[in-house]
Amino acid sequence: MVPAVLPPEPATSRGSLSAEGRKRLFPNATDAEWSDWRWQQRNAVRGLEQLERYVPLSADERAGVQETSSLFRIGISPYYLSLIDPEHPFCPVRMQSIPVRAEARVRPGELSDPLGEDKTRPEECIVHKYPDRVLFLALDTCSVYCRHCTRRRITQGGVAELSKEQIRRGVDYVRRHPEVRDVLISGGDPFMLSDSRLEEILAPLSEIPHVEMIRIGTRVPVCLPMRVTDSLAKTLRRYAPVFVVTHFNHPKEVTPEAREACERLVDHGVPVENQAVLMRQLNSDARIIKELSHLLLRTRVRPYYLHQMDVAEGCEHLRTPIAKGLEIIQQLRGHTTGLAVPHLAVDLPGGGGKVTLQPDYVVEYGQQETVFRNYKGERYAYPEPEETDCACPYEGVWQERALQYGYRKG
Ligand code: SF4
Repeated sequence: MVPAVLPPEPATSRGSLSAEGRKRLFPNATDAEWSDWRWQQRNAVRGLEQLERYVPLSADERAGVQETSSLFRIGISPYYLSLIDPEHPFCPVRMQSIPVRAEARVRPGELSDPLGEDKTRPEECIVHKYPDRVLFLALDTCSVYCRHCTRRRITQGGVAELSKEQIRRGVDYVRRHPEVRDVLISGGDPFMLSDSRLEEILAPLSEIPHVEMIRIGTRVPVCLPMRVTDSLAKTLRRYAPVFVVTHFNHPKEVTPEAREACERLVDHGVPVENQAVLMRQLNSDARIIKELSHLLLRTRVRPYYLHQMDVAEGCEHLRTPIAKGLEIIQQLRGHTTGLAVPHLAVDLPGGGGKVTLQPDYVVEYGQQETVFRNYKGERYAYPEPEETDCACPYEGVWQERALQYGYRKG
Protein backbone atom coordinates (compact mmCIF):
# COMPACT_ATOMS: atom_id res chain seq x y z
CA MET A 1 0.00 0.00 0.00
CA VAL A 2 1.28 3.47 -0.83
CA PRO A 3 1.80 5.46 2.38
CA ALA A 4 -0.25 8.66 2.67
CA VAL A 5 2.91 10.71 2.99
CA LEU A 6 6.06 9.56 1.30
CA PRO A 7 9.20 9.44 3.44
CA PRO A 8 11.79 12.11 2.75
CA GLU A 9 14.39 11.45 0.05
CA PRO A 10 17.14 9.12 1.14
CA ALA A 11 19.25 12.27 1.55
CA THR A 12 18.65 11.74 5.27
CA SER A 13 20.79 8.61 5.12
CA ARG A 14 23.52 10.61 3.37
CA GLY A 15 23.23 13.23 6.09
CA SER A 16 21.13 16.31 5.49
CA LEU A 17 22.27 19.89 5.64
CA SER A 18 19.84 20.76 8.41
CA ALA A 19 20.83 17.70 10.47
CA GLU A 20 24.46 18.78 10.31
CA GLY A 21 23.58 22.39 11.09
CA ARG A 22 21.33 21.37 13.94
CA LYS A 23 24.09 19.26 15.49
CA ARG A 24 26.48 22.18 15.27
CA LEU A 25 24.13 24.97 16.38
CA PHE A 26 21.43 23.37 18.52
CA PRO A 27 23.01 20.21 19.94
CA ASN A 28 20.65 20.14 22.91
CA ALA A 29 17.41 20.36 20.93
CA THR A 30 15.44 17.12 21.21
CA ASP A 31 13.75 15.59 18.17
CA ALA A 32 10.39 16.57 19.60
CA GLU A 33 11.50 20.18 20.03
CA TRP A 34 13.12 20.42 16.59
CA SER A 35 10.02 19.12 14.84
CA ASP A 36 7.70 21.43 16.81
CA TRP A 37 7.08 24.60 14.82
CA ARG A 38 6.21 26.56 17.92
CA TRP A 39 9.56 25.61 19.49
CA GLN A 40 11.18 26.79 16.26
CA GLN A 41 9.40 30.11 16.57
CA ARG A 42 10.26 30.53 20.24
CA ASN A 43 13.90 29.90 19.43
CA ALA A 44 14.10 32.02 16.30
CA VAL A 45 17.06 34.37 16.12
CA ARG A 46 15.88 37.95 16.40
CA GLY A 47 18.88 40.15 17.11
CA LEU A 48 22.56 40.81 16.57
CA GLU A 49 23.90 39.34 19.78
CA GLN A 50 21.96 36.12 19.30
CA LEU A 51 22.88 35.89 15.62
CA GLU A 52 26.58 36.26 16.35
CA ARG A 53 26.40 33.25 18.63
CA TYR A 54 25.48 31.11 15.62
CA VAL A 55 27.04 32.69 12.52
CA PRO A 56 30.43 34.41 12.20
CA LEU A 57 29.23 37.67 10.62
CA SER A 58 31.16 39.72 8.09
CA ALA A 59 31.68 43.42 8.85
CA ASP A 60 29.09 44.19 6.16
CA GLU A 61 26.50 41.92 7.78
CA ARG A 62 27.18 43.24 11.29
CA ALA A 63 26.72 46.80 10.07
CA GLY A 64 23.70 45.66 8.05
CA VAL A 65 21.99 44.24 11.12
CA GLN A 66 22.66 47.44 13.06
CA GLU A 67 21.69 49.87 10.32
CA THR A 68 18.48 48.09 9.34
CA SER A 69 17.33 47.50 12.92
CA SER A 70 14.78 50.32 12.79
CA LEU A 71 13.72 49.50 9.22
CA PHE A 72 12.89 45.80 9.12
CA ARG A 73 12.98 43.08 11.72
CA ILE A 74 15.14 40.01 11.75
CA GLY A 75 13.75 36.55 12.42
CA ILE A 76 15.37 33.28 11.41
CA SER A 77 13.99 29.92 12.48
CA PRO A 78 16.60 27.49 13.87
CA TYR A 79 15.80 25.18 10.94
CA TYR A 80 16.54 27.85 8.30
CA LEU A 81 19.58 28.98 10.28
CA SER A 82 20.89 25.41 10.17
CA LEU A 83 21.10 25.66 6.37
CA ILE A 84 23.40 28.70 6.43
CA ASP A 85 26.95 28.20 5.26
CA PRO A 86 28.96 29.79 8.10
CA GLU A 87 31.93 30.32 5.82
CA HIS A 88 30.46 31.96 2.74
CA PRO A 89 28.79 35.39 2.65
CA PHE A 90 27.06 34.52 -0.65
CA CYS A 91 25.32 31.44 0.71
CA PRO A 92 21.79 31.89 -0.69
CA VAL A 93 20.11 31.11 2.63
CA ARG A 94 22.38 33.58 4.37
CA MET A 95 21.73 36.30 1.78
CA GLN A 96 17.99 35.87 2.23
CA SER A 97 18.02 36.06 6.01
CA ILE A 98 20.92 38.27 7.16
CA PRO A 99 20.90 41.93 6.12
CA VAL A 100 23.87 43.77 4.65
CA ARG A 101 24.51 47.52 4.69
CA ALA A 102 23.09 48.05 1.22
CA GLU A 103 19.65 47.14 2.59
CA ALA A 104 19.66 50.27 4.73
CA ARG A 105 20.03 52.52 1.67
CA VAL A 106 16.97 53.73 -0.18
CA ARG A 107 17.76 54.51 -3.83
CA PRO A 108 15.88 57.01 -5.98
CA GLY A 109 12.79 55.37 -7.46
CA GLU A 110 12.48 52.73 -4.74
CA LEU A 111 9.08 52.53 -3.11
CA SER A 112 7.82 51.40 0.29
CA ASP A 113 4.70 50.08 -1.44
CA PRO A 114 6.22 49.01 -4.76
CA LEU A 115 3.09 47.27 -6.04
CA GLY A 116 0.78 50.16 -5.23
CA GLU A 117 -1.32 47.97 -2.94
CA ASP A 118 -2.27 50.61 -0.41
CA LYS A 119 -4.15 52.72 -2.94
CA THR A 120 -6.41 49.76 -3.79
CA ARG A 121 -7.06 48.69 -0.20
CA PRO A 122 -10.76 49.18 0.56
CA GLU A 123 -10.46 47.28 3.86
CA GLU A 124 -7.50 46.84 6.21
CA CYS A 125 -7.10 43.25 5.02
CA ILE A 126 -8.22 43.54 1.38
CA VAL A 127 -6.24 44.64 -1.67
CA HIS A 128 -8.45 44.70 -4.76
CA LYS A 129 -6.27 45.50 -7.73
CA TYR A 130 -7.29 43.01 -10.42
CA PRO A 131 -10.84 42.56 -11.72
CA ASP A 132 -11.64 39.03 -10.50
CA ARG A 133 -9.38 38.45 -7.51
CA VAL A 134 -8.39 39.99 -4.20
CA LEU A 135 -5.50 39.73 -1.82
CA PHE A 136 -6.52 38.97 1.77
CA LEU A 137 -3.82 40.16 4.19
CA ALA A 138 -4.16 37.88 7.18
CA LEU A 139 -1.31 38.91 9.51
CA ASP A 140 2.10 40.56 9.67
CA THR A 141 4.13 37.63 10.97
CA CYS A 142 6.50 35.31 9.08
CA SER A 143 8.69 32.33 9.94
CA VAL A 144 11.72 34.12 8.51
CA TYR A 145 11.92 37.78 7.53
CA CYS A 146 13.29 37.69 4.00
CA ARG A 147 15.77 40.41 3.17
CA HIS A 148 14.09 40.78 -0.22
CA CYS A 149 10.59 41.19 1.22
CA THR A 150 8.69 43.79 -0.77
CA ARG A 151 5.84 43.90 1.69
CA ARG A 152 7.98 44.93 4.61
CA ARG A 153 5.77 47.91 5.32
CA ILE A 154 3.41 45.22 6.61
CA THR A 155 5.81 42.52 7.81
CA GLN A 156 7.91 44.99 9.78
CA GLY A 157 5.32 44.58 12.52
CA GLY A 158 2.56 46.49 14.18
CA VAL A 159 -0.43 44.76 12.59
CA ALA A 160 -0.14 41.25 14.09
CA GLU A 161 -3.12 38.97 13.55
CA LEU A 162 -6.36 40.39 12.31
CA SER A 163 -9.13 40.73 14.82
CA LYS A 164 -12.33 38.74 14.29
CA GLU A 165 -14.02 42.02 13.32
CA GLN A 166 -11.38 42.78 10.67
CA ILE A 167 -11.77 39.29 9.22
CA ARG A 168 -15.53 39.71 9.18
CA ARG A 169 -15.19 43.00 7.29
CA GLY A 170 -12.78 41.40 4.80
CA VAL A 171 -15.10 38.46 4.19
CA ASP A 172 -18.05 40.83 3.86
CA TYR A 173 -16.17 42.80 1.21
CA VAL A 174 -15.64 39.63 -0.82
CA ARG A 175 -19.29 38.68 -0.34
CA ARG A 176 -20.42 42.07 -1.65
CA HIS A 177 -18.25 41.74 -4.79
CA PRO A 178 -19.58 38.97 -7.02
CA GLU A 179 -16.81 39.58 -9.54
CA VAL A 180 -14.26 38.14 -7.08
CA ARG A 181 -13.74 34.46 -7.90
CA ASP A 182 -10.23 34.01 -6.51
CA VAL A 183 -8.92 35.02 -3.06
CA LEU A 184 -5.19 34.97 -2.35
CA ILE A 185 -4.55 34.83 1.39
CA SER A 186 -1.17 36.26 2.25
CA GLY A 187 0.36 38.68 4.73
CA GLY A 188 2.82 37.93 6.36
CA ASP A 189 2.59 34.20 6.23
CA PRO A 190 -0.88 32.71 6.78
CA PHE A 191 0.62 29.38 7.93
CA MET A 192 1.89 31.18 11.02
CA LEU A 193 -1.72 31.16 12.17
CA SER A 194 -2.97 28.16 14.12
CA ASP A 195 -5.12 25.73 12.15
CA SER A 196 -8.24 27.00 13.88
CA ARG A 197 -7.43 30.69 13.18
CA LEU A 198 -6.75 29.84 9.56
CA GLU A 199 -10.04 28.03 9.40
CA GLU A 200 -11.81 31.16 10.65
CA ILE A 201 -10.76 32.77 7.37
CA LEU A 202 -11.08 29.77 5.05
CA ALA A 203 -14.52 28.63 6.17
CA PRO A 204 -16.53 31.81 5.52
CA LEU A 205 -14.67 32.55 2.29
CA SER A 206 -15.32 29.10 0.88
CA GLU A 207 -19.04 29.47 1.63
CA ILE A 208 -19.34 32.48 -0.66
CA PRO A 209 -20.95 31.15 -3.86
CA HIS A 210 -18.87 33.24 -6.29
CA VAL A 211 -15.50 32.36 -4.68
CA GLU A 212 -14.26 29.56 -6.92
CA MET A 213 -10.78 29.11 -5.50
CA ILE A 214 -8.51 30.14 -2.66
CA ARG A 215 -4.75 30.49 -2.84
CA ILE A 216 -2.41 30.79 0.12
CA GLY A 217 0.99 32.47 -0.26
CA THR A 218 3.50 31.02 2.19
CA ARG A 219 7.21 30.51 2.78
CA VAL A 220 6.60 27.99 5.53
CA PRO A 221 7.50 24.91 3.43
CA VAL A 222 10.86 26.62 2.78
CA CYS A 223 11.69 28.12 6.16
CA LEU A 224 9.62 26.17 8.69
CA PRO A 225 8.60 22.88 7.06
CA MET A 226 7.63 21.28 10.38
CA ARG A 227 4.60 23.58 10.42
CA VAL A 228 3.09 21.57 7.55
CA THR A 229 1.44 18.96 9.72
CA ASP A 230 -1.16 16.39 8.70
CA SER A 231 -3.68 18.47 10.55
CA LEU A 232 -2.85 21.59 8.50
CA ALA A 233 -2.97 19.63 5.25
CA LYS A 234 -6.35 18.14 6.18
CA THR A 235 -7.69 21.58 7.10
CA LEU A 236 -6.73 22.93 3.68
CA ARG A 237 -8.19 19.92 1.90
CA ARG A 238 -11.56 20.54 3.55
CA TYR A 239 -11.85 23.84 1.69
CA ALA A 240 -10.66 22.63 -1.75
CA PRO A 241 -9.80 23.98 -4.20
CA VAL A 242 -7.04 25.58 -2.14
CA PHE A 243 -3.73 26.14 -3.92
CA VAL A 244 -0.55 26.69 -1.93
CA VAL A 245 1.84 29.13 -3.55
CA THR A 246 5.24 28.83 -2.01
CA HIS A 247 8.54 30.60 -2.50
CA PHE A 248 11.72 28.55 -3.01
CA ASN A 249 14.48 30.64 -4.52
CA HIS A 250 17.46 28.30 -4.56
CA PRO A 251 17.94 24.53 -4.82
CA LYS A 252 19.69 24.56 -1.45
CA GLU A 253 16.30 25.24 0.15
CA VAL A 254 14.72 22.10 -1.31
CA THR A 255 15.85 19.92 1.59
CA PRO A 256 14.34 16.54 2.49
CA GLU A 257 12.29 18.34 5.17
CA ALA A 258 11.00 20.91 2.69
CA ARG A 259 10.19 18.20 0.18
CA GLU A 260 8.31 16.23 2.81
CA ALA A 261 6.25 19.33 3.67
CA CYS A 262 5.32 19.92 0.03
CA GLU A 263 4.56 16.26 -0.59
CA ARG A 264 2.37 16.12 2.49
CA LEU A 265 0.25 18.89 1.00
CA VAL A 266 0.12 17.30 -2.43
CA ASP A 267 -0.69 13.88 -0.98
CA HIS A 268 -3.64 15.47 0.78
CA GLY A 269 -4.89 16.88 -2.51
CA VAL A 270 -3.52 20.41 -2.11
CA PRO A 271 -1.66 21.52 -5.25
CA VAL A 272 1.59 23.43 -4.63
CA GLU A 273 3.12 26.00 -6.98
CA ASN A 274 6.32 27.95 -6.64
CA GLN A 275 7.05 31.63 -7.19
CA ALA A 276 10.77 32.33 -7.16
CA VAL A 277 12.31 35.78 -7.12
CA LEU A 278 15.34 36.41 -9.27
CA MET A 279 18.12 37.85 -7.12
CA ARG A 280 21.54 39.07 -8.19
CA GLN A 281 24.39 36.83 -7.12
CA LEU A 282 21.97 34.52 -5.33
CA ASN A 283 20.14 32.66 -8.10
CA SER A 284 20.84 34.82 -11.18
CA ASP A 285 22.06 31.94 -13.28
CA ALA A 286 20.19 29.62 -15.66
CA ARG A 287 21.85 26.54 -14.21
CA ILE A 288 20.57 27.39 -10.72
CA ILE A 289 17.02 28.08 -11.89
CA LYS A 290 17.01 24.87 -13.93
CA GLU A 291 18.18 22.82 -10.96
CA LEU A 292 15.59 24.51 -8.76
CA SER A 293 12.82 23.73 -11.27
CA HIS A 294 13.88 20.12 -11.62
CA LEU A 295 14.02 19.60 -7.86
CA LEU A 296 10.59 21.18 -7.47
CA LEU A 297 9.04 19.02 -10.17
CA ARG A 298 10.48 15.91 -8.51
CA THR A 299 8.66 17.10 -5.41
CA ARG A 300 5.45 17.61 -7.45
CA VAL A 301 5.67 21.38 -7.06
CA ARG A 302 5.11 23.34 -10.26
CA PRO A 303 7.60 26.14 -10.98
CA TYR A 304 5.07 28.85 -11.75
CA TYR A 305 6.69 32.29 -11.75
CA LEU A 306 10.18 33.69 -11.81
CA HIS A 307 9.73 37.24 -10.57
CA GLN A 308 11.84 40.20 -11.46
CA MET A 309 12.64 41.80 -8.09
CA ASP A 310 10.19 44.56 -7.22
CA VAL A 311 11.44 48.12 -6.89
CA ALA A 312 11.23 47.97 -3.12
CA GLU A 313 13.16 50.06 -0.65
CA GLY A 314 16.53 48.58 0.27
CA CYS A 315 16.52 45.87 -2.40
CA GLU A 316 18.55 47.42 -5.19
CA HIS A 317 21.62 45.34 -4.47
CA LEU A 318 19.55 42.23 -5.20
CA ARG A 319 17.96 43.45 -8.42
CA THR A 320 19.01 42.01 -11.79
CA PRO A 321 18.80 43.70 -15.19
CA ILE A 322 15.65 42.69 -17.10
CA ALA A 323 17.93 41.13 -19.73
CA LYS A 324 19.22 38.58 -17.21
CA GLY A 325 15.77 37.07 -16.66
CA LEU A 326 15.19 36.86 -20.41
CA GLU A 327 18.56 35.22 -20.88
CA ILE A 328 17.69 32.62 -18.23
CA ILE A 329 14.34 31.80 -19.85
CA GLN A 330 16.06 31.51 -23.22
CA GLN A 331 18.48 29.01 -21.72
CA LEU A 332 15.61 26.94 -20.35
CA ARG A 333 12.94 27.04 -23.07
CA GLY A 334 13.46 24.07 -25.40
CA HIS A 335 16.43 22.87 -23.39
CA THR A 336 14.28 21.28 -20.71
CA THR A 337 10.69 20.21 -19.98
CA GLY A 338 8.19 23.01 -20.55
CA LEU A 339 6.82 22.52 -17.02
CA ALA A 340 10.27 23.41 -15.69
CA VAL A 341 10.19 26.82 -17.38
CA PRO A 342 8.50 29.39 -15.10
CA HIS A 343 6.80 32.52 -16.40
CA LEU A 344 9.14 35.47 -16.12
CA ALA A 345 7.06 38.25 -14.57
CA VAL A 346 7.53 41.90 -13.75
CA ASP A 347 5.12 43.43 -11.27
CA LEU A 348 5.05 46.99 -12.54
CA PRO A 349 6.05 49.63 -10.00
CA GLY A 350 3.23 51.72 -8.58
CA GLY A 351 0.44 49.18 -9.11
CA GLY A 352 0.48 48.59 -12.85
CA GLY A 353 0.07 44.84 -12.29
CA LYS A 354 2.03 41.88 -13.59
CA VAL A 355 3.32 41.50 -17.10
CA THR A 356 5.17 38.48 -18.39
CA LEU A 357 8.19 38.53 -20.62
CA GLN A 358 9.74 36.02 -22.90
CA PRO A 359 12.56 36.08 -25.41
CA ASP A 360 11.42 37.15 -28.86
CA TYR A 361 11.32 34.12 -31.11
CA VAL A 362 9.61 35.86 -34.03
CA VAL A 363 11.98 36.83 -36.80
CA GLU A 364 9.38 38.11 -39.27
CA TYR A 365 5.61 38.61 -39.31
CA GLY A 366 3.98 38.16 -42.73
CA GLN A 367 0.47 37.73 -44.12
CA GLN A 368 1.32 34.32 -45.56
CA GLU A 369 3.60 33.09 -42.84
CA THR A 370 5.38 33.99 -39.64
CA VAL A 371 9.05 33.16 -39.36
CA PHE A 372 10.48 32.05 -36.01
CA ARG A 373 13.83 31.07 -34.66
CA ASN A 374 13.77 28.03 -32.43
CA TYR A 375 15.74 27.40 -29.23
CA LYS A 376 18.78 26.41 -31.30
CA GLY A 377 18.61 29.58 -33.38
CA GLU A 378 17.31 27.78 -36.50
CA ARG A 379 14.64 29.47 -38.67
CA TYR A 380 11.21 27.90 -39.16
CA ALA A 381 8.16 29.26 -40.97
CA TYR A 382 4.60 28.84 -39.69
CA PRO A 383 2.06 29.20 -42.56
CA GLU A 384 -0.93 31.42 -41.78
CA PRO A 385 -4.40 29.90 -42.50
CA GLU A 386 -6.64 31.24 -45.27
CA GLU A 387 -9.64 31.80 -42.97
CA THR A 388 -9.10 34.32 -40.22
CA ASP A 389 -12.55 34.72 -38.62
CA CYS A 390 -12.02 33.40 -35.06
CA ALA A 391 -15.48 34.08 -33.56
CA CYS A 392 -16.91 30.94 -31.85
CA PRO A 393 -20.52 30.33 -33.02
CA TYR A 394 -21.38 27.97 -30.10
CA GLU A 395 -20.43 30.58 -27.51
CA GLY A 396 -23.96 32.01 -27.11
CA VAL A 397 -25.38 28.54 -26.43
CA TRP A 398 -22.58 27.60 -24.06
CA GLN A 399 -23.03 30.75 -21.95
CA GLU A 400 -26.49 29.46 -21.01
CA ARG A 401 -25.59 25.79 -20.70
CA ALA A 402 -22.62 26.49 -18.45
CA LEU A 403 -24.92 28.07 -15.89
CA GLN A 404 -27.70 25.53 -16.36
CA TYR A 405 -25.42 22.53 -15.76
CA GLY A 406 -23.38 24.05 -12.96
CA TYR A 407 -20.08 24.52 -14.80
CA ARG A 408 -20.02 28.01 -13.38
CA LYS A 409 -20.59 29.06 -9.78
CA GLY A 410 -22.76 31.95 -8.80
S1 SF4 B 1 7.74 35.20 3.98
FE1 SF4 B 1 6.96 36.55 2.38
S2 SF4 B 1 5.90 38.21 3.48
FE2 SF4 B 1 7.26 37.15 4.94
S3 SF4 B 1 9.17 38.29 4.92
FE3 SF4 B 1 9.38 36.61 3.44
S4 SF4 B 1 8.77 37.52 1.50
FE4 SF4 B 1 8.02 38.89 3.12
